[in-house]
Amino acid sequence: MRTLILSDIHANLTALEGVLADAEPFDRVWCLGDVVGYGPNPNECVETIQNLPEIQCVKGNHDAAIVGDIDIRAFNYEARASLAWLDEVLLPENKQWLRDLPDRLELDDITLVHGSPRNPVWEYILDQTTAWENMAEFETKICLVGHTHIPCVFQLDNVKGNAAKVSFKKAGQVFSIDLKSIVNPGSVGQPRDHNPKAAYILYDDETEEWVYQRVGYDIELVQKQILEAGLPHRHASRLLDGW
Ligand code: ZN
Repeated sequence: MRTLILSDIHANLTALEGVLADAEPFDRVWCLGDVVGYGPNPNECVETIQNLPEIQCVKGNHDAAIVGDIDIRAFNYEARASLAWLDEVLLPENKQWLRDLPDRLELDDITLVHGSPRNPVWEYILDQTTAWENMAEFETKICLVGHTHIPCVFQLDNVKGNAAKVSFKKAGQVFSIDLKSIVNPGSVGQPRDHNPKAAYILYDDETEEWVYQRVGYDIELVQKQILEAGLPHRHASRLLDGW
């Protein structure tokens, strides 16, 4: 079975559609949260994600904020501005779908969270120390996370007593996972690794093969939509920088 793993769509429908077309064929989809926030198409993104085959999705911090699980004051000014806009446009049924998302899932011996297994909605796993501390917080061999918008793998090394960070070298890279690991597919709708292309991972549970992928999309169109919606200018400009 081929599983499409994606995260941090952030209401960027054009990027999401680009990923779905590029990733074909796949049998099911695992989404690591932040379907909304920042971008111009929150309803379309929720509706597209909902209808994907065998979709399993966990709740991100932006999803949690818009349904009132998190105090909006915990966000920076620009994120707050987009949350205020989102609150006006998001349809009640889509808000309800986001509200019902779980913080954590365990599927096929793989744990899914948005931030970290220790603090599923909020914690960023950016460095080896945080990754190491989180290795004891999940029972499965693999934990999938998003939230940082930076694709990478942290591998447990019990001999050295650390969790080594492995960055992907290029799109299309095939990898296997032998050790206990935390895997981040990067972001569909707002990459922050200085590569503007949408990121995702495909996992084939028969061959145990994982593939890291990037795909370009019409960034100019999304920038235009962001500005037309009256969202902060930086949400548009950063897409081209991949930051
Ligand atoms: Zn995010």
